Amino acid sequence: MPNSELSGALRRLPSVEELLENPALAAEIERYGHRLVANSARKVLEKLRRQILAGGALTAADLEPERLAALAREETAAIYKPTLQPLINATGVVVHTNLGRSIMAAEAIKAVAEVAASYSNLEYNLVKGTRGSRHDHITRIITALTGAESALVVNNNAAAVLLALTTFAAGREVVVSRGELIEIGGSFRIPDIMAAGSATLVEVGTTNKTRLADYEKNINPLTSVLLRVHTSNYKVVGFTAGVAIGELVELGRKNGLMVMDDLGSGALASLLALADEPSVSDSLASGADLITFSGDKLLGGPQAGIVIGKSEAVERMKAHPMARALRVDKMTLAALQATLALYLNPDEAAARIPTLRMLSETAASLKPRASQLAAGLKRSLGTGADVQLQQAASKVGGGALPLLELDSWVCAISPVSIPVDELASRLRDTAPPVIGRIHGGRLLLDVRTILPAQIKETVGALEQALGQN
Ligand SMILES: *Cc1c(COP(=O)(O)O)cnc(C)c1O
Repeated sequence: MPNSELSGALRRLPSVEELLENPALAAEIERYGHRLVANSARKVLEKLRRQILAGGALTAADLEPERLAALAREETAAIYKPTLQPLINATGVVVHTNLGRSIMAAEAIKAVAEVAASYSNLEYNLVKGTRGSRHDHITRIITALTGAESALVVNNNAAAVLLALTTFAAGREVVVSRGELIEIGGSFRIPDIMAAGSATLVEVGTTNKTRLADYEKNINPLTSVLLRVHTSNYKVVGFTAGVAIGELVELGRKNGLMVMDDLGSGALASLLALADEPSVSDSLASGADLITFSGDKLLGGPQAGIVIGKSEAVERMKAHPMARALRVDKMTLAALQATLALYLNPDEAAARIPTLRMLSETAASLKPRASQLAAGLKRSLGTGADVQLQQAASKVGGGALPLLELDSWVCAISPVSIPVDELASRLRDTAPPVIGRIHGGRLLLDVRTILPAQIKETVGALEQALGQN
């Protein structure tokens, strides 16, 4: 573009003040203030200026005052509109870390709402009328459910492992098998958490084989902890050997060392005696001093890290200054307490905790819901897409039971006028968004993780996505 044309185009842009005088922005300015809306207007105009300077051809319509005002309104809305929003998980991955892991039971949601809406005895002892401890709310139910001497809840399992290592192994050595140096979700890596806890990692054995003698050889006066980490999101198969937690406990006893077991998911329910996920009770029965697991994986509660074990060890963790920085809030405590209460009756837990319910649902019970979704989709999409009911496998997710496949039913969609990845992309922008998975050139919607009440919404979202050609 010649210079004169360029400056002509730039001159056609209004000033920030001119744009703010547009009546379409008056209500915004009234509500959010001049400064915020002026910033939005400035951003819009700056973007157009850059577009012009980069040689982008702008039409008169692009510079319509109404259009510029609408862009400024969108810019402001992006600030006040919540970005964290509900969506429909049609992936079939039950504990999907990117999609918020576990949905909470109605009882847990109610408990959160109540404690959020009122003052509470979070740290107040109602019997004595004195200051109390937030830890006390949760200890009794966890010890009753697990049989552990004591318990502590922190922000998440990563925090539980960090606090345990900081309390017992700072400046000392922790022995771990090379086969258990796990990474969870890219940000929790055993070597890194060890360093953060100021402990020295001593790797023993090899990737596929570690024997008791490997631990034994590496015990020295600096050793403080023998750590077992459940390889929750992968499995080493073939020519392998590992050391059972019981043997590790025995070795620890002989040498006066603490034994910690990071279980990851921590299966509490017996119905999850699924495949080979280690259960909390087995680990406890082995005599481990401290056991850590997540609140929002197979447990199906809120994000939390649960520590159970010997009273003396748990008390020392509670007293560590870092415990204050890793503590949970009242809403987490309320949700966890309500979730754990359901576990007192295994049938209630299985029926009321969504994660457990979804994991235990059989293909036969999923089929009618899949048929209902398929029928709804066929009816509303007509010739716009080919919809088929298919058998498929869903996954547990959340770093649990990586090899286990759950038989499920899915709707396999093949859109007629757009590529399948374009459909997936449009579905991320519907209200609510729907997240499926692409397989064999089709978009699969797995009903295991779609709530019964969301079937209609899922059909509506597909309609929205395919209607916008
Ligand atoms: C998931 C997991 C963690 C991290 O737990 P968060 O609750 O996500 O912090 C740590 N260790 C193991 C073995 C895990 O599976």
